[in-house]
Amino acid sequence: MTIESQIRADIVEVGRRMYAREYTDSNAGNISVRLGEDRLVMTPKSVCKGFMTPDMMCITDLDGRKLQGDRDPSTEMLMHLEVYRQRPDVRAVVHAHPPTATGFAVAGIALDRAVLAEVLTTLGSIPIAEYATPSTAELPEAVRKYIKAHDGMLLANHGALTVGPDVMAAYFKMETIEHFAKISLVARLLGRENLITREEVDRLQGLRGTYGIKAPAPICADGSEMPGEPGDQADCQIVQAPSATGTRLVADIVGGLAARADRDEDAEIRLTYRELSALIEDAVRSLR
Ligand SMILES: [Zn+2]
Repeated sequence: MTIESQIRADIVEVGRRMYAREYTDSNAGNISVRLGEDRLVMTPKSVCKGFMTPDMMCITDLDGRKLQGDRDPSTEMLMHLEVYRQRPDVRAVVHAHPPTATGFAVAGIALDRAVLAEVLTTLGSIPIAEYATPSTAELPEAVRKYIKAHDGMLLANHGALTVGPDVMAAYFKMETIEHFAKISLVARLLGRENLITREEVDRLQGLRGTYGIKAPAPICADGSEMPGEPGDQADCQIVQAPSATGTRLVADIVGGLAARADRDEDAEIRLTYRELSALIEDAVRSLR
């Protein structure tokens, strides 16, 4: 299988999963992936993402000119192009309307509270890009503010956007955002949302390097505010976390690994997903 046919097949699979999980309805949502350095494979407009076939995809250049394909590219192409312009490291972009996360986007409530250790180590916080008319040049403008410092964001009164080094990674971030939104909603319905402390947030951020997780930007220092001027871009992630010294969330064994990494900042420690999950589960258990 060539790289291009693998990308086409992966986009079909991600579309099928998004539709099956009700992240999109009807013909909504769109997906794109870099093909080499100067082209994109993009979902076409006006097709249901649950029933795509590899031959439906469009190939465009980085200015959005169609190079190949019977159909026209996604109506949200401008948003995808802006992401690739701003983030040379990003190789895939996924946009969908997952209902719970989109509910937060409609309510104007960012997913930026420190409540889940795994989200803090991977995505960090999930801000809300200002409302913009879909498929116009307004939307890339709204996304530009946050895209340098975030791999995922809500789009006010619209949906969510995630990016990654490949299309599966970008899609899994969409799953993480929707899962985070569901857990946040349940906690708020139950009437209590215990936040992880600022000190623990800093500690979790330190573990990103230990786990080999590449975050687009650091978590902002306490009290930082997002840039208010039009055209300004966020260069760190705002996380809502209360300060309380002396509270520790992560078990000592991780402290040992982190301490070793502190001594040699270039040291790399690899963990499997199973090991990472076990550490995070331990951490959550110790909270109770
Ligand atoms: Zn949309």
